[in-house]
Amino acid sequence: MQRLTHWIDGKAQASDSGRWLEVFDPASGQAYAQVASGNAADVAKAVTAAQNAFPAWSRLPNSERAHWLEALATALEARLDDVAHAESRDGGKPFALARDVEIPRAISNLRFFAHAATQFASESHHGQAGLNYTLRQPLGVVGTISPWNLPLYLFTWKIAPALAAGNTVVAKPSEITPLTATLLGELASDIKFPRGVLNIVHGLGPDVGEAIVTHEAIKAVSFTGSTAVGRHIAGITGPMLKKASLELGGKNPTLVFADSDWRDNLDTLVRSAFQNSGQICLCGSRLLVERGIYHEFRDAFVERVLALRVGDPMDSDARLGPLVSQAHFDKVVAAIARARAEGGHVLCGGQALDRPGWFVAPTVIEGLGPDSLSNREEIFGPVVTLQAFDDDDAALRLANATDYGLAASIWTRDLNRAHRIAADIRAGIVWINTWLMRDLRTPFGGVGQSGLGREGGFEAMRFFTEPKNVGISLT
Ligand code: NAD
Repeated sequence: MQRLTHWIDGKAQASDSGRWLEVFDPASGQAYAQVASGNAADVAKAVTAAQNAFPAWSRLPNSERAHWLEALATALEARLDDVAHAESRDGGKPFALARDVEIPRAISNLRFFAHAATQFASESHHGQAGLNYTLRQPLGVVGTISPWNLPLYLFTWKIAPALAAGNTVVAKPSEITPLTATLLGELASDIKFPRGVLNIVHGLGPDVGEAIVTHEAIKAVSFTGSTAVGRHIAGITGPMLKKASLELGGKNPTLVFADSDWRDNLDTLVRSAFQNSGQICLCGSRLLVERGIYHEFRDAFVERVLALRVGDPMDSDARLGPLVSQAHFDKVVAAIARARAEGGHVLCGGQALDRPGWFVAPTVIEGLGPDSLSNREEIFGPVVTLQAFDDDDAALRLANATDYGLAASIWTRDLNRAHRIAADIRAGIVWINTWLMRDLRTPFGGVGQSGLGREGGFEAMRFFTEPKNVGISLT
């Protein structure tokens, strides 16, 4: 069985513990690989390597750091199909989604922040008290912790700005989907990426993630994952006065107004609910529909959902694959049972597929109010609810009836209404008549229980640097 090792100081390394974790193929439910089960000793080794690499890496001209990120992007691009295949198998996502969207986005992340390294600049202030200029200096060794739902996409979204800004990195991918980060480590070694600059440590969150968060020499932590773990991390980094960026869960509303071109956009609306089996933090899991079109919309939407083919990730007709793990499958199945117990009426789906692997049919539920747990708690699976509203105020109240605030989409032809609601909705990201339209320069992140801080563009470069003001007297 294939064994996935850490990548520390430019070398493949087994864990100090000598232990391995099983890695499962979600489409069969069978273990197909093992990954190193890291611990604090492995993290300490990675930190030492990163500390040793920091002086040279941080002193490189920005264009040379950009060159290394470009080279990594090019190496990844050359293996696009293999890496997409690995991502598809590891996470159970349709191969086409990995090949056409997610791995290309990982490549873009590396390229985008290569460019950012050459474009990032700092401020100067004058005209009041002498001349002040601000240095933006790298922090030193930083930690990144990423989830399983978009494994390489989110892994690179963190390491790329950290490296571009001149830091060295100890990165922890999810133990559930460790394959593509391991491949990236191998590619880095193939192109002779400077040793110790990027270190990848595998293992469980409490063992490796927490060792990263608590390590004194790690100056900042960039985390994407659940709200519960994010809150736990904030409880550690707060007293340590350590910088933390937290990208957490969501319970995103999709507002469909009667005047929208919803029929022409049904495919996008269905995708916004069910892409990657709903395992995307930006998926709209609460569909809010203006009452005048509610029944018409509901029937057309359900018809389109029933036509979605759920199947093996390598089947080119499959639009949805399995859920990522047994534990996540159990959680989603339990959430559907809870929705029924709360009085929800299941319009389609509502059950697991009778086959090996962790497949759940795409599920649409109506009849639940904004206070139900089904409409308040993140499910993170192929499950959406429908609620009707009467006017703009009611739509906004429903949209904001959640402690989360990551993303929202608004579908209407009335642009005044769209801009008014976009301003009033509690979310870090709002789309009007589209979904998941991404410009990597824009601030990315949520409010409330969806997190703290922003990623993307220069926001990420600012997170991974410390501003230092230098004032000069001009008299
Ligand atoms: P998770 O919180 O269980 O795990 C995320 C990562 O944290 C994993 O690498 C895990 O090993 C690690 N971890 C677990 N316990 C830890 C601890 N005590 N200390 C340090 N690290 C620890 O989340 P998940 O199940 O992998 O991912 C799904 C969640 O991620 C969902 O809630 C989803 O909404 C969220 N998410 C958010 C965004 C965003 O940008 N806001 C993007 C993708 C996913």
